[in-house]
Amino acid sequence: MHVPTPPLDPRLRGGDDLRYAGRFAPSPTGLLHAGSLVAALASWLDARAQRGTWLVRIEDVDTPRCVPGAAEGILGQLAACGLHPDAPPVWQSTRGAAYQAALDRLLARGLAYPCGCSRKDIEAALAAQGRTRARGEEAPYPGTCRDGLHGKPARAVRLRVPAGMVAWTDRRLGPQAQDVAQAVGDIVLRRADCLWAYQLAVVVDDAWQGITHVVRGEDLADNTPRQLLLQQALGLPTPSYLHTPLVLAADGQKLSKQNGAQPLDLAQPLQALNAAAAVLGLPPRHGTVPDALAAWVAAWPFLQSGR
Ligand code: GLU
Repeated sequence: MHVPTPPLDPRLRGGDDLRYAGRFAPSPTGLLHAGSLVAALASWLDARAQRGTWLVRIEDVDTPRCVPGAAEGILGQLAACGLHPDAPPVWQSTRGAAYQAALDRLLARGLAYPCGCSRKDIEAALAAQGRTRARGEEAPYPGTCRDGLHGKPARAVRLRVPAGMVAWTDRRLGPQAQDVAQAVGDIVLRRADCLWAYQLAVVVDDAWQGITHVVRGEDLADNTPRQLLLQQALGLPTPSYLHTPLVLAADGQKLSKQNGAQPLDLAQPLQALNAAAAVLGLPPRHGTVPDALAAWVAAWPFLQSGR
């Protein structure tokens, strides 16, 4: 059933060339659960509320973590929830040549470099610098291979991250800033196991698909400044970002496949959608899925901060 498109909010009119492209980019490591549906619904609503295009990208670059059949299962779940993409899904596993071309450009310009450090080497270098890290936290890369491999074989490829704060404004979280060089260090673009890193794949594909608005879960918010730096290094445009609230498990932790989140019950799509809508501050709806979606498009609370 067709979901009616509301009239365009005049505050969003940037001239006749207004163009919106959004996306939902699940990793097929399992089926959608209550938390991932919030991001899917929010990105769909934002696109529809702004009369934009909504795309789905299957982020299957981390092959050891991908579960056979999960991508098809996710597409089926989205369809059952009435969230239909405007074009066939893009699979990142088919995009290796584009990631390689981007990496080659960065290497040729000295903006990326090969790194020979193992995890142990990084720990040792950090300890030698007197830097400790909190338990469970990522170890910032200490920059050992910035000036060469020191006789070690190349393992990964890293982006040369410039010093200083990276600032951006999230449509929901407001002004954000992170010193990526200090907190994370030079980020991995191609991993030691030869897999493409999420950061490179997502930045290359967001630009290639013409994504103007990224709407995704708040757990990914701290990746944004890394992606901004990578966009700048590659000369790519920066989309606007909206990070949606997380669904918490009973223990207060973010609901995730890792802590046993249950896959969505496809027999009850409206129930699942109502739960996701509540997280986004939208009222419950009864009736059909398309009617509920149309009502939520009209009530979408993030419209004012759309650009
Ligand atoms: N594939 C990522 C995930 O499922 C999301 C990437 C993104 O939206 O930027 O967590």
